[in-house]
Amino acid sequence: MTQVLRGVAVSAGRCAAPVARMAAAVAEPAPAPALDESKREAAAAAIVAASQQVQQDLLAAAASVSGTAAEILTVTSTMATDPALVSSATTKVTDDGESPERAVWLAADALAEQLAALGGNLAERATDVRDVRSRIVAHLTGVPGPGVPRRDEPFVLVAEDLAPADTATLDPASVLAIVTSGGGPTSHTSILARSLGIPCIVATIGADDLVDGQVIAVDGGSGEVHVEPDAELIERFSLEISLPEALTEPGRTKDGHAVALLANIGNPDGADAAAQAGAEGVGLFRTEFCFLGRETAPSVEEQVAQYGKVLEAFPGKKVVIRTLDAGADKPLPFVTADDEPNPALGVRGLRTSWDRPDVLEDQLQAIAQAAKAAEADVHVMAPMVATVAETETFVDACARHGIGQAGIMIEIPASALRARDLLKVASFASIGTNDLTQYAMASDRELASLASLSTPWQPAVLDLIAAACDGAARHGRPVGVCGEAAADPALAAVLVGLGVASLSMTPRSLPAVGAILATVELDECRALAEVARDASSADEARAAVRDRIPALEEWAL
Ligand code: PEP
Ligand code: MG
Repeated sequence: MTQVLRGVAVSAGRCAAPVARMAAAVAEPAPAPALDESKREAAAAAIVAASQQVQQDLLAAAASVSGTAAEILTVTSTMATDPALVSSATTKVTDDGESPERAVWLAADALAEQLAALGGNLAERATDVRDVRSRIVAHLTGVPGPGVPRRDEPFVLVAEDLAPADTATLDPASVLAIVTSGGGPTSHTSILARSLGIPCIVATIGADDLVDGQVIAVDGGSGEVHVEPDAELIERFSLEISLPEALTEPGRTKDGHAVALLANIGNPDGADAAAQAGAEGVGLFRTEFCFLGRETAPSVEEQVAQYGKVLEAFPGKKVVIRTLDAGADKPLPFVTADDEPNPALGVRGLRTSWDRPDVLEDQLQAIAQAAKAAEADVHVMAPMVATVAETETFVDACARHGIGQAGIMIEIPASALRARDLLKVASFASIGTNDLTQYAMASDRELASLASLSTPWQPAVLDLIAAACDGAARHGRPVGVCGEAAADPALAAVLVGLGVASLSMTPRSLPAVGAILATVELDECRALAEVARDASSADEARAAVRDRIPALEEWAL
């Protein structure tokens, strides 16, 4: 009988294909006896040749992708033949008799340390140096290079987890699905897989035992991996079921109840992609992504330019700009401390304005200025709001800048439970289910070992969402969802049943969510919400809801 592995489903879709495992990390070459003088010149030449080959490989990879991925790969390629690296390595061979692979390792380590000590943008280059170091050493020793493997046929990528540089080279035409043993539903891998539309299962128990070439059938909707499936299952999982690339109509249920389908973006490039995907607007603009790692606060002018580009992509449409959500996994050194014992529970989100009100003031001024020059319907919201007092301070600050649509994110159980007080003051709320789940379940959203707890299908999380919607409804205020939950088509129907008015997600998920919503009536959504809240576990809630939405099977979602 086929063995079935289970993990956390993070990106829907099905496929059957052979496994290709990520190559193991390249190990540090062991010290060896000094090379004979007669062999040193050839060994030094091998370093030069290997570094040139790595540069060419990276440039070829850059040519096969576009946008940020191409930029990352082109920048990394220049490091492969960096004169400081190559000459330091060849000198270690000619003068000290080191083996070429060990010489490259030592030279790159020294260079990476120097760069790291310089801080700022140069420190980031240290990662590039270590990346090219592994690639050159792999060439010299004949072991598989690091990164995503290349195969003639499409495959399922199986890994412990993926690093940001690996993900830059993912090609959806050859990587049909991703299965990892690590990672959580809101990890980097999950977010990227969803944004590329690649079926993905994380925290899969038993994935480390899968071997290269073994055929598996992956169901990114249910979180199941069938190992060596029979011919019938392979055929079923290989059927080409393609949803449209973009939303073609506004979101609504089968009986016409409107549910705005909006996009989550992190920078102006994302705004263009979201507009092309047919998003009805932007439900979450994560402004902190424009300034990550910066030591000093951006000027008002710089912010006006960035926000203005986003607003331009959505004339006449709603754009929700979130003020800087700094802290925890998104440090902005100009407002966050780096010595807190529990950064996720620390001075983050709106709390950073307690010490630095000037940063919030500048941002509101920039938003107001950009809004004046654009035709978009600008809304502003604050992240990590817990109390009425914080809500009042924020709404007042927005009003001083002429911003009438001032909202809050509901990401803390306290604000979900007391939404009836907070929404008396704020004009709207958007539920951040990633953090709301993390705080409700006391489970770090970055930790793979807690992935079974960190899912918004937890009935306790659904109860909190229901409380937030009920509290807001008392004042006739709209509530949206902009956490990853909104991108799960089955959960989207539950959220609508709980009273959510808009769903904001990675643009890639818009067609799937739109297609499923169009098959269920509002009353059915309400019934699904009850079924989910009545369940005694997240798995039970998910399975019961999925069973009741036949279109999921039809679209292989
Ligand atoms: C969330 O917490 O769900 C959210 C949308 O905010 P972020 O993922 O940026 O923390
Ligand atoms: Mg959040």
